[in-house]
Amino acid sequence: MGYEADLKLFINGSWRTGEGRDSFQVINPVTGDSIAELPMATEADLDEALDTARRMYPVWRATPVEKRSAILHQAASLLKERAADIARTMTQEQGKPIAESTGEVLGAASLFDWYAEEIKRDYGRVLVRPPGELSRVMHEPVGPVATFTPWNFPIYLLAKKVAAALAAGCSVISKPPEETPGNTLAIARALDDAGLPKGVFQLVHGAPDMVSKHLIGSPTIRKVSFTGSIPVGKHLMKLAADNVTKITLELGGHAPVLIFDDCDLDKTLDMVVPQKFRNAGQVCVSPTRFYVQEGIYDAFIKGFAERTKRVKIGNGLDADTKMGPLANDRRPGAIETLVNDARDKGARVLAGGNRGDSGFFFEPTLLADVPLDADIMNNEPFGPVAVSRPFKDFDEAIQQANRLPYGLAAFAFTENGRRANLLADAIEAGMVGINTFAISIADAPFGGVKESGFGSEGGKEGLETYQVVKAIHQA
Ligand code: NAD
Repeated sequence: MGYEADLKLFINGSWRTGEGRDSFQVINPVTGDSIAELPMATEADLDEALDTARRMYPVWRATPVEKRSAILHQAASLLKERAADIARTMTQEQGKPIAESTGEVLGAASLFDWYAEEIKRDYGRVLVRPPGELSRVMHEPVGPVATFTPWNFPIYLLAKKVAAALAAGCSVISKPPEETPGNTLAIARALDDAGLPKGVFQLVHGAPDMVSKHLIGSPTIRKVSFTGSIPVGKHLMKLAADNVTKITLELGGHAPVLIFDDCDLDKTLDMVVPQKFRNAGQVCVSPTRFYVQEGIYDAFIKGFAERTKRVKIGNGLDADTKMGPLANDRRPGAIETLVNDARDKGARVLAGGNRGDSGFFFEPTLLADVPLDADIMNNEPFGPVAVSRPFKDFDEAIQQANRLPYGLAAFAFTENGRRANLLADAIEAGMVGINTFAISIADAPFGGVKESGFGSEGGKEGLETYQVVKAIHQA
């Protein structure tokens, strides 16, 4: 089936096509072939978007909360109705299996539904004062917002930012990833069709550096939210400093997984392997550094390798594909370099280890006995590779888990409740999953510590990042 997305910009309530703008080739990662041209925003487009965001912010902020909520719910319903088409477009642009794309669209819809309800319960507070006096604390929207989101979960990560910001009463300009644009347009269409006042949400594809400099450099933007790599996050943080603009950064991770010898081995392996290769490992919370207690290390890596070899790779549009290609041409080479470096330094390749013959494929890969000085033990691979090492005891496991400057997600498998509590306390991470990988849910805060960033998305904390507080004292 051909690629059908009609790629446009959405500025000031109207859809904009090429009209002399530069364009970007959208590539199907299965074949490496171009499938569409994306028009890129000019500086004049961005100025128009900024003017619109400034003009529409007070309009949206003054819209009663019940109406804001109803529009967000309606957008969620439209995303659900359109999920099959949106998912097909996503798989064609990004490569992930169609079932994962469909789940992602439904997850995006759930965020609109959740924030549509949460904003109704967003109370301030009243402070204790003598009779006749009143002090109250109010939550107010922060102002116009700029969001920057990546290609790995193109619709879910966009929805996470946009749903919370719109619920809070902010106007929003979003720059989604240029590699995977068609599915993100579906958010603009759903909001427009749901009756969002024109200009409250705008979508500008464009050259990342130019767009971020232009938008963050404008005093109109009062909040920036970015998901992506650590170097780009640091760069945007510096840009935001010029206008003292609030910023949320959801950056990389290198999730440790501590496997204790009292876990249910088969059950754990059956969970771990599909989770590792979900979205071809291009997941900021992907389980990657497997530290396994000595007594079960050999059995664990044997079971891991057997299951890894059975993961079926192919075109994500085929129903039996369990892992698609990597998303863009930068990824296979990056993974190959990391795997070769680990192999040269003494790691054993127990499964996979090679690029595919065509497109951007890389085999699901398991490395064992990986030395700590291998690059892959220190830098996030962001691909379908798991690394493993044995550990002796609890203290060593925690020391290994915390040894990197990252702190996004961490996982552990153990049937010992006291050990679970102790390790949850000791691990330096924004999210800890014990006997589970389900950590990205609409009602829960999602975000990192250390160089993985700061600020939460999801949950009531996600709403707060688009708000400022005001204390009002009356005598
Ligand atoms: P990259 O750093 O070039 O790009 C990551 C994202 O940031 C892309 O969506 C890109 O459009 C955007 N971006 C890049 N420069 C920007 C700028 N100056 N202003 C605004 N946005 C900008 O990396 P990449 O090659 O696309 O991916 C490589 C690495 O990025 C991965 O290895 C991974 O560590 C990280 N990454 C993390 C996430 C995440 O979910 N945290 C998602 C995608 C990529």
